Amino acid sequence: MKCKKCGGPAVVNMRQHRLALCGEHFLEWFVAQTERTIEKHGMFEADDRVLVAVSGGKDSLALWDVLLQLGYDIDALYINLGVDDHRYSEESKVRVERFAADREGAAFQVVDVRRTYGRSVPELARERRGRKVCSLCGLVKRHIMNRVACEGGFAAVATGHNLDDEAAVLFQNVLHWQTGYLSRQAPVLPATHPRLARKVKPFFRAYERDTAAYALLRGIDYIYDECPYSRGATSIFYKELLNQLEARSRGAKQQFYLSFLQAREQEGFLSAPRDGLELRECEECGQPTSAPGMCAFCRLWETPQG
Ligand code: AMP
Ligand code: ZN
Ligand code: ZN
Repeated sequence: MKCKKCGGPAVVNMRQHRLALCGEHFLEWFVAQTERTIEKHGMFEADDRVLVAVSGGKDSLALWDVLLQLGYDIDALYINLGVDDHRYSEESKVRVERFAADREGAAFQVVDVRRTYGRSVPELARERRGRKVCSLCGLVKRHIMNRVACEGGFAAVATGHNLDDEAAVLFQNVLHWQTGYLSRQAPVLPATHPRLARKVKPFFRAYERDTAAYALLRGIDYIYDECPYSRGATSIFYKELLNQLEARSRGAKQQFYLSFLQAREQEGFLSAPRDGLELRECEECGQPTSAPGMCAFCRLWETPQG
């Protein structure tokens, strides 16, 4: 297979785009494609300050790398959740530190959950038997990302979610017809409240395989293992299913997700969020919440009854 740009040997074949490229031209294409996505969806402007949430995995480190190359004003945030007796989290953090040490202008901050709030996420889960680590983890990450972005005056929080991530979530939401989640699943979530940061996913069009190729070709050292708590997670199973579909029908994964985004633009596809779902401010932390009193995050740290 030959590179479409230069005729040299291709190293990446993106069947969904009917495009094969050599390493050099793939890297160039990938960066340009991300820039087009950012601009087309008005994710942020050239002079905005953007917070990139980095996990130490391939997607978020690749995103950080691309945004730095594009010259955006970037700060990164690593949240130390204390996973696997801190082993997994420490190893992830090392990847973030190494990445930053290798690059000029790559600044990051760390929020250590246990140090800041008193307990790590697995400790919290043990205390709240019946709550899954992954759902607690998601809640904690969302809260901290939002807090850091608002306090720091960032225009947006960017995460490394790729098309495979988004398609798997869509699949799950459709299987259960979770219309509330469906209406909120988008590559750009606007700030609908002064204390709610805009959330953007600049890689939402990129196949996971291609973000991995990007990280590999750029020599990014990332944490290869999935989080130990995600082993056997349904989201991984859904990704496998969608990949089987993709193998039979080129571009099916992309079609599934991008057509959803198109459909949701049509009036009446999903009804507007219910009136009366008004946001108030959490009496503890001030972040917006639909619950009366404290937000779900702040309630986590109260001593459980019984
Ligand atoms: P995940 O939910 O683990 O698939 O991660 C999705 C995205 O959330 C990643 O691409 C990162 O942008 C962000 N993220 C995940 N874990 C962390 C973390 N520990 N600290 C900061 N950002 C994270
Ligand atoms: Zn080429
Ligand atoms: Zn709160």
